[in-house]
Amino acid sequence: MDRTKAPILYLIVPCYNEEALLPITSRELEKKRRQLIREERISPASRILFVDDGSKDHTWEIICGLAEESQAFLGIAQSRNRGHQNAVLAGLMEAKDCCDITITMDCDGQDDIQAVDEMVAAYENGYEVVYGVRRARDKDTWFKRTTAEGFYHLMRWMGTEVVFNHGDYRLLSSRVLQELARFPEVNLFLRGMVPLIGFPSTSVYYERQERIAGESHYPLKKMLALAFDGITSLSTRPLHLITMLGLGVALLSFAGVAWSIVMHFAGRTVDGWASMTCILCFVSGIQLISLGMIGEYIGKIYKEVKRRPTYIISGRTGENREEKEAAKGKGEM
Ligand code: UDP
Ligand code: MG
Repeated sequence: MDRTKAPILYLIVPCYNEEALLPITSRELEKKRRQLIREERISPASRILFVDDGSKDHTWEIICGLAEESQAFLGIAQSRNRGHQNAVLAGLMEAKDCCDITITMDCDGQDDIQAVDEMVAAYENGYEVVYGVRRARDKDTWFKRTTAEGFYHLMRWMGTEVVFNHGDYRLLSSRVLQELARFPEVNLFLRGMVPLIGFPSTSVYYERQERIAGESHYPLKKMLALAFDGITSLSTRPLHLITMLGLGVALLSFAGVAWSIVMHFAGRTVDGWASMTCILCFVSGIQLISLGMIGEYIGKIYKEVKRRPTYIISGRTGENREEKEAAKGKGEM
């Protein structure tokens, strides 16, 4: 890759019901794009790509309006809401053949846009992956901070490689994207997948801002679902823990068997209803948990085997559509 030439940057922004924020965010992003082009840090062919994740408000109309007004903006729409991770992947795969670098960021101004300069600088210095890492979480509520940090610790303990306090604000070079495209999985947890790809990587630090407007789409329920997905789609440590637990329980029950035999011959057996019930409950409880865990993995294998597409694009804005059609035409000749 020729790093002396200014790279084509695609800023990828997933949007779900963000009509209140888009006019503000798009202005800020365009300002940043123009500044970087002026400084000859990025190519004038750089674009801002919005991914509408099946919004129920006017998000898509606003994106289309932006794309009509200025060449700086492109948009793709998912056929329905598929969640943040899928929206980000859809954007990355759309951009991977048109650019040298991508930066994914949220639409709500929480990812400090000033960190983009540093990310591009890191790329100029030879890095293929640049993680945006939150310096402090004092803008988050105590609950969000504690649960989020607990999540990173749990992920690491479970054997999943994640960068502490890094969300989905990151720079990826097209080289990394080509490799990411070869990951066929459908249970997506991008921040666990990117470290698996490798290549030189570094982090830049930024202050996490408050949401400019609207509400978070990540309530506790969705956060837990993401954490669970992250662990079960990237780590087999829970299975290992079950084996260890099973061993421990088996040892205890062998001791219990020996003990009851001794007691029997000593003539000291009583009704034993309470202890029987306890053991029965305990063992069946453990068995149920274990079965449940195994079931989770089987469920995932099932989904992976089916190889469903992770996203389906139902629309494209003007320039983007023409480019895609031209590329397709060339391929058919
Ligand atoms: N988002 C999305 N699909 C969803 C939920 C969220 O594309 O189903 C987008 C949303 O528009 C935003 C980003 O993902 O740009 C992060 O979401 P949010 O700010 O609600 O999450 P939080 O920052 O609170 O974790
Ligand atoms: Mg947010």
